Amino acid sequence: MSIEQNFKKIHTEINVACNATQRAEHTVRLLAVSKFQSIASMLELVELGQKEFGENYLQEALAKQKALANYQLTWHFIGDIQSNKTKLIAESFGWVQSLWRLKIAERLSQQRPQTLAPLNVCVQVNIDRDPHKKGLLLENVRQFCDAINRLPQLKLRGLMTILELHRSSQAIKESYLQLAQAYLELQKTFSSMDTLSMGMSDDFSLAIAAGSTMVRIGTKLFGPRNKS
Ligand SMILES: *Cc1c(COP(=O)(O)O)cnc(C)c1O
Repeated sequence: MSIEQNFKKIHTEINVACNATQRAEHTVRLLAVSKFQSIASMLELVELGQKEFGENYLQEALAKQKALANYQLTWHFIGDIQSNKTKLIAESFGWVQSLWRLKIAERLSQQRPQTLAPLNVCVQVNIDRDPHKKGLLLENVRQFCDAINRLPQLKLRGLMTILELHRSSQAIKESYLQLAQAYLELQKTFSSMDTLSMGMSDDFSLAIAAGSTMVRIGTKLFGPRNKS
């Protein structure tokens, strides 16, 4: 299938999942996850109207930002963050979704240029309590959000999670519902929260049913990654 066909099919599936739970389609945003994908493929998506891209690796992302600088795109950093990368991330991204360490948050706030709007951030939650996964355990999220809220150059936008691989749809649904419930509860305190980033190529319909407002899709949109 072509990228255009993939793009249309995903929008149809988002629409179906929204209808099934009486949600309007515009309540779910599509983040195109473009790690290891070519600039030519990304340009195809841009021409179809896609504006938000997610990248995991800084050097790769910077090269793409340069190549696509003529378009008004929004870049989301969704990969692991090392301390020595925070300055460039703070300078060149609109969003960071993979935030869960306070030291990194402090650096990002400090290094975010004053000439730019505060960096939008989502807190990464390890909802499955997987010892090999990054992210905060759910019980530590509220305190972390409090700390983020005090950092002047960060804007707390919501929560993000990556589930364990290869689980049953029932288990996936339960994890997503658990995060959605926590998100709604936190929203009562943190009014800047408007983003629940959950759902990837294989499970985004389940995530939408549970309340996701942003699905992050790579493979189903672009096809297999060139390396990973
Ligand atoms: C790679 C990646 C995705 C996209 O994964 P696909 O299964 O290819 O859709 C989504 N979120 C994060 C954080 C990723 O690293």
